Amino acid sequence: MNNTSNWENNIAIAGVGLSAAAVAMRLLSCGFRPLLLSRGLPQVKTVEAIPESALRLFDALDLTPALQMAGGFWVEGFETAWQGNESVIRPGKYIHVERSLLAQAAIAMVIQQGATVVSSNTIAPLVVEKESVRLMVNGVEQRFAAGIDATGRSALWSRPIKRDQREIAQIFSTSGNESLLRGRIAQLRGGWAYRLGLPHTMTVGVVSSHHTSYEQVQDLIRESLCLPPMQLHLLGRRPVSPQWAEESIQDRRLAVGDAALAYSPIAGQGIRFALSSTLAAAAVVRTWRDSPADRDYATQYYRELVSAERLRHISNINSLSGNQPLPTNPPQLSISNAPLPSIIYYIGQTKMTGLYINGLIKCTEAIALPDGNLVRWLGNFDLLIMREFCTKPRTTASLIEELRGQPLSQTEALYLIRWCLERNILSTADL
Ligand SMILES: Cc1cc2nc3c(=O)[nH]c(=O)nc-3n(C[C@H](O)[C@H](O)[C@H](O)COP(=O)(O)OP(=O)(O)OC[C@H]3O[C@@H](n4cnc5c(N)ncnc54)[C@H](O)[C@@H]3O)c2cc1C
Repeated sequence: MNNTSNWENNIAIAGVGLSAAAVAMRLLSCGFRPLLLSRGLPQVKTVEAIPESALRLFDALDLTPALQMAGGFWVEGFETAWQGNESVIRPGKYIHVERSLLAQAAIAMVIQQGATVVSSNTIAPLVVEKESVRLMVNGVEQRFAAGIDATGRSALWSRPIKRDQREIAQIFSTSGNESLLRGRIAQLRGGWAYRLGLPHTMTVGVVSSHHTSYEQVQDLIRESLCLPPMQLHLLGRRPVSPQWAEESIQDRRLAVGDAALAYSPIAGQGIRFALSSTLAAAAVVRTWRDSPADRDYATQYYRELVSAERLRHISNINSLSGNQPLPTNPPQLSISNAPLPSIIYYIGQTKMTGLYINGLIKCTEAIALPDGNLVRWLGNFDLLIMREFCTKPRTTASLIEELRGQPLSQTEALYLIRWCLERNILSTADL
């Protein structure tokens, strides 16, 4: 890698986990040259579950083969035993995979695509400047167009960080059991426990905010996770509380995955966020290079994206401690079935903002929602069409007809109108 000239396409990435591989893959496809910095330590081998809804992100990043290479295994449903209720099976498919094998497979793929990996005992601090970053690599100072922190909860380049609570998981492994492949989460006094199976191994985690001796609670855990008598080997301890970098983006430095925002594993969203944040981060870096006029919007877009994910997650976690049911995955939409008004018109407020469009962040108009979020498309439907169609009060029936010409089905048109009414994009002129 030539770092004295043409540094505009060089990107430094700290870490060699899944986020590092994902962002490198995306940057390679945009013509960047990623340099991944590894400290060469092995990761703890634990099984994790990836909901089917996150698989499109693997596709978007061309990383689906890594799931196969790592021995990903399809499992139907997920059991939850919460608040002393009977256990229920959450429907849906999950891929169970060993986290470290998945990261290794993804890193092997990016190396094959042309990324460079440099190993050393420590990774040097990042010097962040307005238009570039600088870093010592193998004793030589090098310049990069951006520095991406993908060091997970270490958040090496993204300090200071904040934490919501201080919960620790003790992680155990045991032999696989074909009849216990499905994941299970169970609430315990002062914490919770989970198991996730693969044919040859099973991971058991016990989470609590204080140090619990496993020996004291093993019978309770066996019972709540429906485990037969079997030997559990302690693999290690991992922090599990929600954690985030105070600045997910600063000049030419971005944090991705857990370094930006580490979810509590109870949400089962860590890998999804790792991938979605890398897609967004790569789009931001590409915008800085290819569309400088949108540079500040791109930075703002990333900051707001991470912050909105954090607020949503913390609110879900708080509702758990307030004895709400476990969040569904993906969240279920609640649209009322109340009869539609007969006359409606557009009342949405718009704002200029950065939005992800075809791999770049573009400054564009979007509609402000009551919760502070901004939205432009619902699926493939451009919501500003509603403004065009409903500047003056009109009958709902005629709007449905017009939407059907878009083309939307009758059900989609009804859903869209209800969605807009619930979010103050449309209002009713009915008394
Ligand atoms: C107990 C537990 C269970 C979980 N279960 C699930 C689950 O079932 N489903 C799910 O979707 N998510 C789960 N998660 C979350 C998921 O593991 C993470 O969100 C995901 O691994 C984040 O990937 P990452 O690449 O950002 O970070 P990591 O996977 O942590 O990778 C970080 C990389 O940075 C390197 N690194 C770290 N520190 C330094 C340093 N100081 N210097 C240099 N390099 C460093 C590491 O070696 C590694 O290469 C779980 C998390 C925990 C704690």
